Amino acid sequence: MQKQKLVIASNNSGKLREIGHLLEPLGIEVLPQSAFNVPEADEPYQTFVENALAKARHASAHTNLPSLADDSGICVDALKGKPGILSARYGGEPRSDERNNQKLIDVLKNQSDRRAHYYCVIVLLHHAQDPQPIIVDGTWYGEIALTPRGEGGFGYDPYFFLPDLDKTAAELPMEQKNRISHRGKALAQLVERIREEWV
Ligand code: IMP
Repeated sequence: MQKQKLVIASNNSGKLREIGHLLEPLGIEVLPQSAFNVPEADEPYQTFVENALAKARHASAHTNLPSLADDSGICVDALKGKPGILSARYGGEPRSDERNNQKLIDVLKNQSDRRAHYYCVIVLLHHAQDPQPIIVDGTWYGEIALTPRGEGGFGYDPYFFLPDLDKTAAELPMEQKNRISHRGKALAQLVERIREEWV
């Protein structure tokens, strides 16, 4: 049987590998949008889900194939959800994890309530005009530490402290992070939904 092609609206090789690893066993061939020269999509919206939909629709429109997009970030309670959709460029352009983290720590240094969560939404569109996309999401609760710990992960992970584990996300082995993270939870649901509704 021919494999169902699915374009991933991302050029992040780590994400592509993780998604491919989960979906290939379902008979889905995962292809990066760079293989079709899809230009970068605008992400002009205020919510993760709208931006993920915009990216997926853009990829399907350019390729005439089903597409998958995700959007994620970190939301701090005391900042009413910021950095949120701005997480990747919170410290300004060009994007830098170091500047993003420095800004977050500066803003929170006199704040006692430093509860935060990572959030990830994943959208699967059957085609660009699909009125009924598959949408799944995942949340991972923790708090912002003022001093970094750990060498793993990326982005805000050295400052994302998990009280239950007494560790930051950067101190977790990748396999454990992938199991319990916002993205891991969303991907697990995605696999279920695809199994039930798609393949
Ligand atoms: P994107 O969804 O790949 O655009 O990610 C948005 C931004 O959110 C990233 O650049 C990071 O700053 C932050 N982010 C999302 N997920 C994680 C994570 O698992 N660890 C650390 N930072 C993350």
